[in-house]
Amino acid sequence: MRTRELANLRAYHLTVDIGGTKTACAAGTSSGEILARREHPTPLARGPEACLERIARDLRRVLRQIKGTLPAPVSIGVACGGPLDSRAGVIYSPPNLPGWDAVPVKAFLEERFGLPTFVENDANAGALAEHRFGAGRGTRNLVYLTLGTGIGGGIIAEGRLYRGTTDDAGEIGHTTILPDGPECLCGKRGCLEALVAGPAIGKRAQRLAGENPQSLMHRLARGGEITAVHALQAARQRDGAAREVWRETGYFLGIGIANLIQVLNPQVIVIGTIAVHARDLLLRPTRDSARRHAWPRALKAVRIVPAKLGERVGDLAALCCALNAGR
Ligand SMILES: [Zn+2]
Repeated sequence: MRTRELANLRAYHLTVDIGGTKTACAAGTSSGEILARREHPTPLARGPEACLERIARDLRRVLRQIKGTLPAPVSIGVACGGPLDSRAGVIYSPPNLPGWDAVPVKAFLEERFGLPTFVENDANAGALAEHRFGAGRGTRNLVYLTLGTGIGGGIIAEGRLYRGTTDDAGEIGHTTILPDGPECLCGKRGCLEALVAGPAIGKRAQRLAGENPQSLMHRLARGGEITAVHALQAARQRDGAAREVWRETGYFLGIGIANLIQVLNPQVIVIGTIAVHARDLLLRPTRDSARRHAWPRALKAVRIVPAKLGERVGDLAALCCALNAGR
């Protein structure tokens, strides 16, 4: 290995990506190279203390894996579902981590490892990762949207993460798109999430399949519940009702995105998960709808693209926290 590569490798960071089903611990360099990695099912039933102990154990294993080749790590980055206080590094009962009420992740890891630890909600951390390593490389103004069972969002403004006054900036999933629309898990009605996240697409597919007995979606679901996955498979086979599912979804997503364009005037809007799978089936009607609802000049300046990092986003998001990229 050349001297310069070695010198770069000398600085490395520990990462923790905490999810509702699994938690990944890794070591990575500032250029995004993952040196070692371990993953375990999040032991939610045993409470937050057990989860933290398990994280500490896996981090020690990761350290052992690369020991002897490198000096000590520089910092730890943690990406986790919000709400959380990023400055204090305390996690407050995220929907995907029941029982986690005021869990001091930062204090725990700093005490155990003696390393500065930075905690960020996973959507903000994902925005940092797509900005630094993914679809938003080289841009100054970016909005990142996760589009899965819920919608998370993160805003990079003038090259920096924009957190807002109480760490709540970027909660794009809960902007109101349709007054008196479908109920949202947050308690409001007509939120973007209630209209275009996975479960909402599933409901739309069920409705449109119900109105179209000939739709391929019925056969694909084999008598079971019709979901967004069936709508995608059927749309790829040019099923009219399934294509309408994506057109309607894109219509609402486009309104949400037009609002972002009007407020933030970004260069790129990066959309993850479902948009990565559905691609133009979703993005074409989304762009059409954004065009109808945003001013032309701001619209011309923005690209609406699927996320690029795929499965790697979790590790790289936590890595961006460790690099303190958000400050
Ligand atoms: Zn909501």
